[in-house]
Amino acid sequence: MSHRNDVGSTPFDRMASHMDREDLDCPECGHEDEDGRWRVQTSGGRVRYTHVCPSCGAIRKRTYDLGGE
Ligand SMILES: [Zn+2]
Repeated sequence: MSHRNDVGSTPFDRMASHMDREDLDCPECGHEDEDGRWRVQTSGGRVRYTHVCPSCGAIRKRTYDLGGE
């Protein structure tokens, strides 16, 4: 069995697929934002994810350093 790594071959792709599975439940009010998505901003080697709860407006942020150039 060959082991290929075509999917998610870049750090960003891997992070994106990870965040797709990240829960969007608001820790503040417990709202489940099933249709919500993390907004993605990239700058340099960093990726910033932001999610605003549509129910209470709580903002969650996550920043990842891709360790690239
Ligand atoms: Zn909330």
